[in-house]
Amino acid sequence: MLIDTHCHLDAAEFDADREAVLVRARAAGVGALVVPAVERANFGAVSALCREYLECRAAYGIHPLFVDRARDEDLDALRRTLSQEPALAVGEIGLDRFVESRDDARQERFFVAQLEIAREAELPVILHVRRAIDLVLKHLRRIPVVGGIAHAFNGSRQQADAFIELGFKLGFGGAMTHPRALRIRELAATLPLDALVLETDAPDIPPEWLGRGRNEPAELPRIAAVLAQLRRLNTKEVAVATSCNARQTLPGLSVIRS
Ligand code: ZN
Repeated sequence: MLIDTHCHLDAAEFDADREAVLVRARAAGVGALVVPAVERANFGAVSALCREYLECRAAYGIHPLFVDRARDEDLDALRRTLSQEPALAVGEIGLDRFVESRDDARQERFFVAQLEIAREAELPVILHVRRAIDLVLKHLRRIPVVGGIAHAFNGSRQQADAFIELGFKLGFGGAMTHPRALRIRELAATLPLDALVLETDAPDIPPEWLGRGRNEPAELPRIAAVLAQLRRLNTKEVAVATSCNARQTLPGLSVIRS
């Protein structure tokens, strides 16, 4: 069984055929999907989705690219949601220094506040980090959380090792399937296998074979096959190891719900 540790199944891109997307994911052997919220406005949609489909598990948080329109009371809403809804993690949270129009101080304030919330709730975090890895690591050292996932990891070996030391797993997906993504492929091939988890980030980060098309969780077996090839393993070994890693870092995945 494979676990898609990052999939925005609540996104509008899936409104027309969400059920069919899940049927294809199941048929492809994807047994669990982590659906991270990105802002307060979609907390309800994520929880409704996870209530309807048992293989979908929620994380709640305010994404760095959504803090512009977030309000301080959204942090209270996050606390409330975490106390009322089954949640695997706080996420997707982080820092994004890639986009041009952004408010760095505001991003940092919301990130720090959400790390505190994760620590209070004793939940792992799902991190979105672009061009801000060292700064994120600095905050994690100051506000230790129980671990989590650095989603769509795209840093150096040294930065990967720093995350691993802090108890994090690194998320690999579509980016690794592009032959020119040399650094990411090198990391995927050489990092300790027990530090890796698989993800699609659907509908985003399409693997190489989809061109610019919509990504979906049913692509995960092919993504796993790429990782297997890079590491000279068979796909089954990669599936077993990455699913075990995902359960270890997101213990809520193992809880059977009635
Ligand atoms: Zn995401």
